[in-house]
Amino acid sequence: MMISSFHPPERTLMGPGPSDVSPRVLAALARPTIGHLDPEFIRMMDEIKQLLQYAFNTQNELTMPVSAPGSAGMEACFVNLVEPGDKVIVCQNGVFGGRMAENVRRFGGEVILVEDEWGQPVDLNKVESAFKANNGVKALAFVHAETSTGVRSDAAALAKLARDNGALTIMDAVTSLGGIEVDLDGWGIDAVYSGTQKCLSAPPGISPVSFSERAVAQVRDRQSTVPSWFLDKNLVMGYWGEGTKRAYHHTAPVNALYALHESLLMLKQEGLEQAWARHDHYHQALKAGLEAMGLSLLVDEAYRLPQLNTVTIPDGVDEARVRSRLLSQYSLEIGAGLGALAGKVWRIGLMGHGCNSRNVLLCLGALESALI
Ligand code: PLP
Repeated sequence: MMISSFHPPERTLMGPGPSDVSPRVLAALARPTIGHLDPEFIRMMDEIKQLLQYAFNTQNELTMPVSAPGSAGMEACFVNLVEPGDKVIVCQNGVFGGRMAENVRRFGGEVILVEDEWGQPVDLNKVESAFKANNGVKALAFVHAETSTGVRSDAAALAKLARDNGALTIMDAVTSLGGIEVDLDGWGIDAVYSGTQKCLSAPPGISPVSFSERAVAQVRDRQSTVPSWFLDKNLVMGYWGEGTKRAYHHTAPVNALYALHESLLMLKQEGLEQAWARHDHYHQALKAGLEAMGLSLLVDEAYRLPQLNTVTIPDGVDEARVRSRLLSQYSLEIGAGLGALAGKVWRIGLMGHGCNSRNVLLCLGALESALI
């Protein structure tokens, strides 16, 4: 068997993620590997922490990248904060709320599931009723930006409900971070995880997380040992903690962190508000073009995500054939529907570096020709 070097095709990534990675970030990834305890690397880690604090709008001391994808960030939140017997309200209005519930179950917690239709945001009244019907709820968990449906839920209101009921808030910000407002400290979120492969436009495989002081205190005061060695925040804090006392925990993914550093720096240089405005601007352009073609968006404007557009597939269209024509003729990837929306929608991402006029025009032109 002859195996040669792998050279991926050049694609435009307009699916639900990973999104296009900017050449600046790819160049950072290719810089020489140095030791993960090298003073220069540690200096860069401090900068990553500061840049993440900026991106998340938080002063949380425990703000760091988990060396694994978004699902590991999710797991880091639940494995540290849920102990056997803990009651957790989990909001499910798409795929990822379901994954959160599965985490709670696996760590011995009791799931109180609040379900909403796919394509709808989390219903605050239902969450309020769940708090009223259950005493001693430890945490409320929800997905801020549901990638499977393109829906934004009201994070500020959900966090307030949790706080009023003495519960922690665990939020999934995998698709929201960098694309729409995320304000951890303003909203009072206790634990959050994100991913590098959506609006941060870095390669997949790293999950930024942040824990409030309240959450850190809960982890320190646990009755039982965190049942994951790798994700135990008590141990990782020795590596990502303050200043000089960096101790070996695991070998950091050195080059992937160069890439994250560069992508966060790009976000800082653009400015958060400007980045959110850019996502909204190109979403409006895409929407206008889709509607001019007779296509419609699934999600109501009031809670639609600009970075993840769910487009209703017109009757009689072979959706898989359209996607495969876009890929073969235009090297353009868009996403299929997931779960309850499989076969019903396409998911068009306008995320981070890929949220630009060129991509909007390419996608509209390619879709128009593929639909003929
Ligand atoms: N949460 C949301 C909202 C996501 O969109 C994703 C991935 O698409 C995840 C969690 C899981 O992230 P990963 O695939 O990086 O493990």
